[in-house]
Amino acid sequence: MSNPKPSSSRVSGLLQVIERSAGTGLDDKNVENVSQATAKILRMLGQQEKTLTESILRKSKVSQSLVTLLMTTQDVALHLNTVHILVHIASSSNSKCTRLVRQGAPHALLRSVAATSRVRPLLEELCLHQHLLLIKLATKEKKLALKARLCGVVTVTLDLAKQCINNIDLSSPLLQVLKIYATNHSNSLSLVKNGVLNLIERYFSMYGKQNIAVFRYALELYTQVLAIRANAVKAAANGATRRMLDLFNYWTDLDKLHKFVHIRKSILNSIKHLVGNESGRKSLIKCDGISILYATAKQSDEMKQEIQRNCSTHTSSDFKLRVTVNTQDIYKKTDTTNPNGKAIDNLALTCSQIIRKSMPKVCLPIPSLHGPVYFDESSLDPTDPYLLQEYKEDGYEDEDEAPAEEVPLTLTNVEDFLKFFPELTDYQNNKVILDQLSEYRKEFITLVPQTPSNSQNELSDERSDTGPISVIVKPVLQNGSSQSIRSQSSPKSSGSDPLRKISNSCDPNLPPSVTSKRSCRNVKSVTNSLSNMSLGDSPVLTASYSPPPAKAVKHFAKVAAPDMYSHRPPHYLEQLYDPIQSVQRTLMLLDIARAVHPETLINRIAYDQDELVKTEEPSNHALSNIKWDPALRRCKILPSIPQTRLNADPPLDVLSQHMNEENSTGTVNIPILQFESRHECGNLRKAIQVRIFEYDLVLNSDIGSTRHHQWFYFEVHNMVADFPYRFNIINCEKSCSSFTQGMQPLLYSAHDALTNGTGWQRCGKRICYYKNNFVRKATEDTGRASAAQNMHTLTFTICFPHSHDTCYIAYHYPYSYSSLQAHLLEVQHLHGISSVLRRQTLCTSIGGNPVDLLTITQFSPSHNKSSANSINDREYVVLSARVHPGESNSSWIMKGVINFLISDSEKAQQLRNKFVFKIIPMLNPDGVINGSHRCSLLGVDMNRQWINPHPNLYPTLYHTKGVIQLLVALGKRPVLYCDFHGHSRKKNVFMYGNITQPADNATVKLLPTILDIHAPAFSFSNCCFTVEKSRESTARVALWRQFGITRSYTLESSYCGADQGLYKGCQLGTQHLEEMGAKFCEGILIMSSADQPCCLSDETDEDEDRTKR
Ligand SMILES: [Zn+2]
Repeated sequence: MSNPKPSSSRVSGLLQVIERSAGTGLDDKNVENVSQATAKILRMLGQQEKTLTESILRKSKVSQSLVTLLMTTQDVALHLNTVHILVHIASSSNSKCTRLVRQGAPHALLRSVAATSRVRPLLEELCLHQHLLLIKLATKEKKLALKARLCGVVTVTLDLAKQCINNIDLSSPLLQVLKIYATNHSNSLSLVKNGVLNLIERYFSMYGKQNIAVFRYALELYTQVLAIRANAVKAAANGATRRMLDLFNYWTDLDKLHKFVHIRKSILNSIKHLVGNESGRKSLIKCDGISILYATAKQSDEMKQEIQRNCSTHTSSDFKLRVTVNTQDIYKKTDTTNPNGKAIDNLALTCSQIIRKSMPKVCLPIPSLHGPVYFDESSLDPTDPYLLQEYKEDGYEDEDEAPAEEVPLTLTNVEDFLKFFPELTDYQNNKVILDQLSEYRKEFITLVPQTPSNSQNELSDERSDTGPISVIVKPVLQNGSSQSIRSQSSPKSSGSDPLRKISNSCDPNLPPSVTSKRSCRNVKSVTNSLSNMSLGDSPVLTASYSPPPAKAVKHFAKVAAPDMYSHRPPHYLEQLYDPIQSVQRTLMLLDIARAVHPETLINRIAYDQDELVKTEEPSNHALSNIKWDPALRRCKILPSIPQTRLNADPPLDVLSQHMNEENSTGTVNIPILQFESRHECGNLRKAIQVRIFEYDLVLNSDIGSTRHHQWFYFEVHNMVADFPYRFNIINCEKSCSSFTQGMQPLLYSAHDALTNGTGWQRCGKRICYYKNNFVRKATEDTGRASAAQNMHTLTFTICFPHSHDTCYIAYHYPYSYSSLQAHLLEVQHLHGISSVLRRQTLCTSIGGNPVDLLTITQFSPSHNKSSANSINDREYVVLSARVHPGESNSSWIMKGVINFLISDSEKAQQLRNKFVFKIIPMLNPDGVINGSHRCSLLGVDMNRQWINPHPNLYPTLYHTKGVIQLLVALGKRPVLYCDFHGHSRKKNVFMYGNITQPADNATVKLLPTILDIHAPAFSFSNCCFTVEKSRESTARVALWRQFGITRSYTLESSYCGADQGLYKGCQLGTQHLEEMGAKFCEGILIMSSADQPCCLSDETDEDEDRTKR
């Protein structure tokens, strides 16, 4: 008001005084002038000239002068004014602040702090402005903490904070600056050494509700300091955890209206650091911290509902539950009703993180990591020097292993392998071949393996085991009642196969989702492309063929229903599951609730294979050779025991059970679920009921190993329909899983299979995968659980479709050894099959199971003579699958391959005329039968044994190589080898190949390129062609190196689904896998045409409509 027209020249004049002083230095007279000038400027900044003054202060020269002044002046008043003006400049904009940093303000200021802090009495106003400026500059000076240490200011500021604890105004900036200093590791350590922890706790007790801002700055400094582990250890040792919990309790009591959620969150952040070490965890548990935090955690709306659903009290003797749960609501996403909902959920999340960190590690509820049954290795020739080799390493896919050294095999009895070439011996004079071989022998004396001498591998000729029918029989259902599934006792069936009927008239029973536009389009294209190749509906199915029972290491209690009633894929695409993010947090909190309220848990053992094995009736013929081994606490079973005929559940009983009506009183008995896994491919070891609808499940490790828990397959009955049963598989090993990316487990209902032909279906909601507090085992000496080996929980919730049903739950579509045998027997009985297929036993596995070798080609001259090559001119393709038993998807692809190759389609005929296919559909039958995931009975990953497989330990690999070696010896090196696998992390179907030189690029990439175009599930972009050292002993690399097979591949197929192409966003089903097999064969045909460019044009026209884009 007094200066209505403040002139910019006036401000400029004042600034000139400052600038001049910066240039010339300060004498006493100058100091006075400059002091007055700065004081005037400050006054103007506080009045209505503010804007104008600020605009002038923005000049670079001005700020530089002020920084210089800060460095040079000793005068307290001037010093204060200068800092004050600089605070204004730094606050005015980010760029001004950056400029001040560039002009050296931080350094000048730190020196100023160091100098003035020694002045007594303390210059409080100067101190305040210095630290306010430091806070501003820190936003642009990343190295402020380091510079502070170099200027010796860190402890100076700490001392100031100690002195000024009663000064509310000064405390806030000092605590903030200390927090900035504490971001540097050394600063943080030195602050603690000089007593910062005690200081902060004094602040805690002085401030609090009275001055929330100061209290909060102290909290933030505390959290920052504790971020350094050593500091947290020190604090925890001094009882900080208890004090922080008290603090948390205090604020929680105070915070009924959720106004201080941020404060509580800050306290929790400190506690999180404190429980990062053993002493912190211990004191948290000692102070009942888990209950305290759990009480907060369950305040989230979602959790409240979940607890209501799951933790209702029950009488322990019988589990009668009033049906109050509305099952429609169970999967609904809950709405947050509290306005602070998000912040509280966040708080709950931190609570649950702390609890999970602190919960004591628990050993798995099993007596030993080894399964209850093992394979008796002494049955293998113990004098064999190979057995002395170290063959027991457990290899994971990702681990690097040095390749084993190649030991050449000697060549004798090469003729024994000739029997595997019926296509040659049928039409060729044996002598010609032998002559050819003797030539070869001179050159490559060591290449062809010798036939093993052990009696195990008596090589039979063609397989003819189509003996009496006993086990695998298709279901026959008439007028709503079932016939016996044992065909010996079954009266004449009318031949009306309910499964076939369903497949012809599908639509009325399908769920509504099927009729969506998208599904309809996809269904059409899928069924069209499958109709040519599918043998599924051939009349042959009505006949019943029974393979001999598979030989297992363990005793099988039954045949699983899917092996009896077979599988029909649904006629619609199953979408990938869309996980709800918040569910995982809720489910983990439910796990925590167990520790807090153990009294609410049932903890009843529903299934225990270890106990069953112990008590199995020795009178049982199949078990006469079982010996309980007290030292190992396991049962020892000699391999190759002839098994008694397997028992099956009589379906009449099953069905009549299913027909039982529930009582109508409104109460439902919730009985305990019954489990069974002593069937082919089954591997459940233990089931424990923890809550009425919740079960913990433990999987068997692979036979001979303590690892590889991934595959699962088991039977459930005694369920009540439409209730959400939660299953937790608690001993998963891998750190990540496709179950977090839309994959669902599979459910098979025997009731549905019998009544409407439904097969395996993807099922399960609320699917999560997370680290749990179970560990593999206690360390031997202390008996305490070791921290390093945490297991993971796979959890999913299933509503069973019927009460009293017999259901099966599996990791992926099971495909048992018996399924393969049944399929091959069916195929063998096809009319005219002998002209295209021969089935032989390649060898016997160490578990005593015959390993199939199929030869598919046009044996008898086809009608169309002109197009057929003479057999001698045909090229060879060798295919194998299921070396890893858990990878059942590879068997479904192989089924598609076989069905396509023997079909009447034009392309299949062309393929048979051009090629001879040698197929080993199941390289590891023992692992498949016994429900292993990755290993042979020796606990060894066989796909790491291809370089030099021992004939007694790995007879299937040995003989497969022998067949290929003989081909090479005959000058018929296979044009293609492919081993089919399953992949647990990636989506789609894809290939691995070997390219080490540019010349191979086109050759190796041709087939994957073709498949990318023609096979909907296949994705070239997932393919990889590098030869890693860790893969040297795999089939793909070993056969490429040793036999020079350029096109030697691994075909990987996702357990989950596709993220590209026609099936994008959907899970892969058996129909897609079988289709993939067919497309793979078509790809070979196109590849062979492309190898001869003149024929290429014929193919492309015909295949145009099959391209996927
Ligand atoms: Zn594999």
